[in-house]
Amino acid sequence: MIGGGEVATRKIATLIEAGAILTVVAPEVTAQISVWVENKAVSRYRRKGYDASDLNGQFLVIAATNSGSTNTRVFEDAEKNSILVNVVDSPDQCRFILPSIIDRSPLMIAISSGGNAPVLARILRQKLESLIPFAYGDLARFAGGLRSMVKSRLKSFDQRRRFWERIFDGPVSALVLAGRESEAKALFHTDLEAVAASQRCEGASVAGEVFLVGAGPGDPELLTLKALRLMQQADVVLYDNLVSPDILDLIRRDATRISVAKAKGRHSIAQQDINSEMIRLAGEGKRVCRLKGGDPFIFGRGGEELAALVDAGISFQVVPGISAANGCAAYAGIPLTHRDFADSVTFVTGHRKDHGYFDLPWESLSTSRQTLVFYMGLSSAGLIREKLVESGISAATAVAVVEQGTRKEQRVLLTTLDELPQRIASTDLASPALIIVGGVVTLAESLHWFGKTPMTDTEQVSEHRPGDYAALIAGS
Ligand code: SAH
Repeated sequence: MIGGGEVATRKIATLIEAGAILTVVAPEVTAQISVWVENKAVSRYRRKGYDASDLNGQFLVIAATNSGSTNTRVFEDAEKNSILVNVVDSPDQCRFILPSIIDRSPLMIAISSGGNAPVLARILRQKLESLIPFAYGDLARFAGGLRSMVKSRLKSFDQRRRFWERIFDGPVSALVLAGRESEAKALFHTDLEAVAASQRCEGASVAGEVFLVGAGPGDPELLTLKALRLMQQADVVLYDNLVSPDILDLIRRDATRISVAKAKGRHSIAQQDINSEMIRLAGEGKRVCRLKGGDPFIFGRGGEELAALVDAGISFQVVPGISAANGCAAYAGIPLTHRDFADSVTFVTGHRKDHGYFDLPWESLSTSRQTLVFYMGLSSAGLIREKLVESGISAATAVAVVEQGTRKEQRVLLTTLDELPQRIASTDLASPALIIVGGVVTLAESLHWFGKTPMTDTEQVSEHRPGDYAALIAGS
């Protein structure tokens, strides 16, 4: 340690705790460091200014003096001699970092901002400190003592992982955390024997399961806690192209990921193939997470996939997700119902049948005081406009197109039914995008709060104030 001030003192405290053999070089040191020198926690103290020979024989060096030029000399000398160096508060002169640490030895959590925001790392550390009981260290040590036994009793890796997940989630760990280790140990052995015995009966096979999970519209914070937990427990994840990359990042690191997305120029993997893949994997005893954008039961074919699982006798769980309509509406400032505008909201598919036409109850979609939300409607916008106007909706009705809703890339277009097809054509809006039709859309002008300002057709929008829309729709 080059330096003997307050910063050096803090770093030395951590180093002593880690068992480092320390030499301190500084003309003066704090009272605390003097105590450490006296009680030999610091092995050597050189009361002098730094020179290059101080680095001889050192494994690593920290420069914490208040002189920038001295620190730089330390850095350069260390580099010359291939000694690991850290210059405090100078990320560019660090060959290793000193992260914020949550110490539940043997469990250790390090948080680093890569020198960008040490205070943020510290705040995070405080949060985590309060979340992670001290006894987790005992729990880790307890598990460590039993690992090799579990390894010899349970042959398959998956089985061992599941066994440990149950242990850490169940009464055994509760007992350890409560300080009742001998009871914990007894229960642990009973559990282990039971699992080992079932392994002998059924060979290595364990029942697989499918989790049908809605991943929401894109913002990872809109995942449910349950979705996150099952994504963390799955052995295999089959995901759609609607699932955002930020969400894929939250899947357990060593889970196998299979994209069943539409590749450019190719048709999507047939639904039947997805079903049989799920059944095959679950049949091998895997826990399969079928991860879908939005909600699995809203234009997500969730029902069809479950039917196939029922036929195959595979057990499953369903986790609802925030559907695009809810997510986009919230993030675009468009309440889907509102006392002044809409008493009902209808989710409609804008996906046309193979022969290219719509089979929708246009008359009922065109009655007053309702909000319509079209999924997959971008390429059918012309037809949607035509059919709705034909059925009596005012062409001046407000319409929003929300592209990539809830993601940082979100864009919102505010227009009217009349202008919708042209406006889509004149922008580069692309899938995934949602079309929201109805008086509530006018509220977005004042209620929008997230991401980029909505693109408006200024003339159109300023002509029709919210009240006018209500009147127009009511009169339709
Ligand atoms: N199960 C999904 C919908 C699947 S259908 C859900 O509940 O949301 C696919 C359509 O959903 C897309 O064509 C688009 O219209 C809409 N969609 C999904 N995610 C979206 C998003 N982030 N922003 C806008 N529209 C989205």
